[in-house]
Amino acid sequence: MNGSESSQSSGSLSGIAADLAEPIAVQVPAGGWLPCPCCGHQVFSELWSDEICDVCFWQESPFQLRYPWAQVGPNGGLSLIEAQTNYQEFGAVEERHRRHVRPPAGDEPVDPGWRPVDPSRDPFEQDVSSDPPPGDLATLYWWRPDYWRRHEKPGVC
Ligand SMILES: [Zn+2]
Repeated sequence: MNGSESSQSSGSLSGIAADLAEPIAVQVPAGGWLPCPCCGHQVFSELWSDEICDVCFWQESPFQLRYPWAQVGPNGGLSLIEAQTNYQEFGAVEERHRRHVRPPAGDEPVDPGWRPVDPSRDPFEQDVSSDPPPGDLATLYWWRPDYWRRHEKPGVC
């Protein structure tokens, strides 16, 4: 009902950009942009890159992608599951990070089929394993048909 559009801060960058000889366009990675597992939007250019999502402020963490219940890693003790809940409620991984996020851009769609973690449905490992992660880290995306543990039974937390 409210008609307020997100307001852009006035673009003072245009003058600066005009002075740049080099284009600043970022190359789209071969496999396309990778989704942020917290908000689902396609924002990351590569895994293991430590990038932070502009839409929800989640920092890419292959460990927490594999173990979304783990409260360790670069996200300040926040598990991916907690971050997803907070994003639904506050629009950011934590309420205090709301000022660091922005609405998704038109070229940052939600990854097809993305949905939040559902431990009753998704067969995540219940403990940190000594097994190596899958060779193709993109198979850690639990919402995709090629999720590496698709054949396992979910163990309800
Ligand atoms: Zn995100």
